[in-house]
Amino acid sequence: MAAIIGLTGGIGAGKTTVAQVFKTLGIPVFNADEVAKELMQTSPLIKTQLLTTFGEKVYTANGELDKTYLAGIVFKDPYQLELLNAIVHPVTIQAAKDWAAIQTSPYVIKEAALIFESAAAEGLTGVIGVSAPSSLRIQRVMKRDACSKIEVEQRMRHQISDTIKLKLCDWVIENNDQDLIIPQVLKIQEAILAQLATS
Ligand code: ATP
Repeated sequence: MAAIIGLTGGIGAGKTTVAQVFKTLGIPVFNADEVAKELMQTSPLIKTQLLTTFGEKVYTANGELDKTYLAGIVFKDPYQLELLNAIVHPVTIQAAKDWAAIQTSPYVIKEAALIFESAAAEGLTGVIGVSAPSSLRIQRVMKRDACSKIEVEQRMRHQISDTIKLKLCDWVIENNDQDLIIPQVLKIQEAILAQLATS
């Protein structure tokens, strides 16, 4: 089984951008947030639990997840968001483990917005954090998702502060307007491979 290295950071910090660099180095990437969205559509266990917890309206008449309806519930109430995460995270964590078990590269990257907030940190060999000033993160997400500053700030409030998150990481990539990403990724890859060679 390939060692799993977590890749995390606040909304708009640049996780997917950094993950792309690892992909070009031939490192497989598991995008936990995307897989979680797929699983909400395909996992019978998640479907049953979402229906029981949030009601029939969570899925439309043709069986599609009604993301707007669900977002309307969970982004207004932290308790409901916790419930949603408690339903989706365990299945996603297991999917990542199953996926890593069949990879042949020395290590793989698991990209996830929430790692320290759930049991996702368990079983990881290390965690890389992506850091960017919040003003830049807001600008990037407003441009990428064509949304308002208020909407981005609302999403940011549901994540633990970057200062805490980054302190828990083994490596941090600065993704601002000055530092280049590729040399930082290469240096971290060297450290990961050195760590794996001694373990
Ligand atoms: P989310 O948590 O919302 O999924 P993320 O951490 O994965 O975000 P990205 O999607 O990688 O962040 O980056 C957010 C936006 O900022 C994207 O449109 C991306 O192209 C852009 N971006 C990221 N890093 C840089 C950079 N160094 N220079 C210019 N644009 C960047």
